[in-house]
Amino acid sequence: MCYAIPGRIIKISNNIALIDYYGERKEALVDIEGIRTGDYVFAQGGVIVDRLQEEVALSILEGWREAFSRLKKKDKDLAEEEPFPEGIDPEIIRIIRKGEEGITLTRDEMLTLLRCSGRGELNLLYQTANSIRQKVHKNSSCVHGIIEFSNICKNDCAYCGIRKDNHALERYRMEADEIVEIVTSAVNRLGFRAFVLQSGEDSYYTTERLTEIIRRIRERCGVLLILSIGERDKGCYQELYDAGARGVLIRFETSNPDLYGKFHTTLRYEDRIETLKGVREIGYIIATGSLIGLPGQREEDLLEDILLARSFDTEMYSFGPLIAHPATPLASTPPVDLDAILKVIALTRLITHDGNALVTSAVETLFGKEGTRQALMAGGNSMMINLTPARYRRLYAIYPREDRATGFPDEDVQRRISETVSLLHSLGRAPTDIGISGTRGGNNKTSL
Ligand code: SAM
Repeated sequence: MCYAIPGRIIKISNNIALIDYYGERKEALVDIEGIRTGDYVFAQGGVIVDRLQEEVALSILEGWREAFSRLKKKDKDLAEEEPFPEGIDPEIIRIIRKGEEGITLTRDEMLTLLRCSGRGELNLLYQTANSIRQKVHKNSSCVHGIIEFSNICKNDCAYCGIRKDNHALERYRMEADEIVEIVTSAVNRLGFRAFVLQSGEDSYYTTERLTEIIRRIRERCGVLLILSIGERDKGCYQELYDAGARGVLIRFETSNPDLYGKFHTTLRYEDRIETLKGVREIGYIIATGSLIGLPGQREEDLLEDILLARSFDTEMYSFGPLIAHPATPLASTPPVDLDAILKVIALTRLITHDGNALVTSAVETLFGKEGTRQALMAGGNSMMINLTPARYRRLYAIYPREDRATGFPDEDVQRRISETVSLLHSLGRAPTDIGISGTRGGNNKTSL
C-alpha cells in the first residue's frame, strides 16, 4: 500500500511544476535538485519530495490505474448535489449559494451559518462544502503519519494531559536513532511519504539535535517533514527549514486573547501568533487552527478562529474538539457535539475553497469512524495515522485515548492503516497529491 501516487511533470515554470496524475493536474513546488520536465515524482502537500525511476513509477501507476478511476467516480457520485427537501430557510440557502459562488460572505452571514441548527440547513451546508472540495481537489486526500517523539513539556495548557503539572504521567523521549528508524521503516515498509513529528515543548531537543534528526531523515528518504514542536525562535525554525523540514503544525488554540490567557499560564497569545508569522515568512507550509469546545468559547470566537487561520494563508486547517482530560483543570468540560466541528470545517471550506482541512484524531476519539466519515463529507480532505510505537502511544495522552493496542505494534499499526484506507476508499478518496493551495500556487492553479 502506498500513501502517495506518483505523477509526471509536464511543465516547470518559476520553480512550480505542473504534475499529471492520470490526466488530472496539480501544482507542486520543485524542492529537490535536478528535477526536469518528464520526471516522475512524489509530491506531498504541494511539495515535490522525491524523484522515481520511470519503471518504478509506471509500475506503481499501473497498480493504481483501475482503482483510481473507480475511486474518482465514487467520489464524484457522492459529491453530486442532491435536491434538498422543502422547508429549508431561504436565507441559509442564499448564504450557502453565495459562498459556493466564491463571493465574500459578511461576518453576519458566516455567523448565521455557525449558529444554524436545522437538520436540512446543516445537511445543505455540509453537502455544498463537500461538493466544493470535490471540484477543487478532486478525490485527492493526504494521509500523513504522525510520530509523537516526546511527551515532556514545559507548559501548563489547562486542557492538555501532557502538561507539566500532570505528575502522574510517565514521561518518555525518543532518541534520534529511534525517530529516524521509525520514519525510515514507515517509508520503506508502509509507503508513507509525509510525517508530522510532534512533541511537547521539550528543550532536550535543541536546534542541533532537531537539525540532526531532520538531516538524517532527509538523507535517507524523500519525504515531507512537518514539525509540531511548539514555539521556537525564528532562527531555530530557519535552521530546521535549512535542514529539510518544510511544514509546521502549530495551532493558536483560540483567536480570543482573553480566553487564551485563561487557559495558558506559561504561553502568551502574542508569541504564538509571532511564531506563526515567523514560520510563514521562512516559507514553511502552515497547518493551524483551534480547539473547539473551550469553556466560554462562543460562535463569534470560532468565526474569528477561522478568519485568523485564513489570514496566514494556511495550507492545512486544523480544527478539532477539546476532549476533557481528568488530570487537567478542564477535566469537567463537556464534549461538543459533532455538528459544532462539522460546521467549522464546512464554513472553512465554503470561504476558502482550496484550503485543506484536516480531520483530527480527536474527532475519531469522540465520535468514532462515523464522525471522521462525516467530517470527510463536510469539506475535510486530510487525515493522520498515528505511527508512534504502542509503548509510547499510551503515554502521549494529551486526552484520554482508547488504547486498542494489541501489544504487537506492527499488527496495531497495520490495523489502523487498513481501517483508515478502507474509510477513504469507501468515500472514493485516493492519495494523489493535494497540490499547492493559497497564494503559493503559480498560474496553472487548479480552479473551480
Ligand atoms: N507542543 C506542540 C504545540 O504546542 O503545538 C505540539 C504538541 S500539542 C500537545 C498538540 C496539540 O494538541 C495542541 O495544539 C492542542 O490543540 C492539542 N490538544 C492538547 N490537549 C488536548 C485535548 N485535551 N483535547 C484535544 N486536543 C488537545
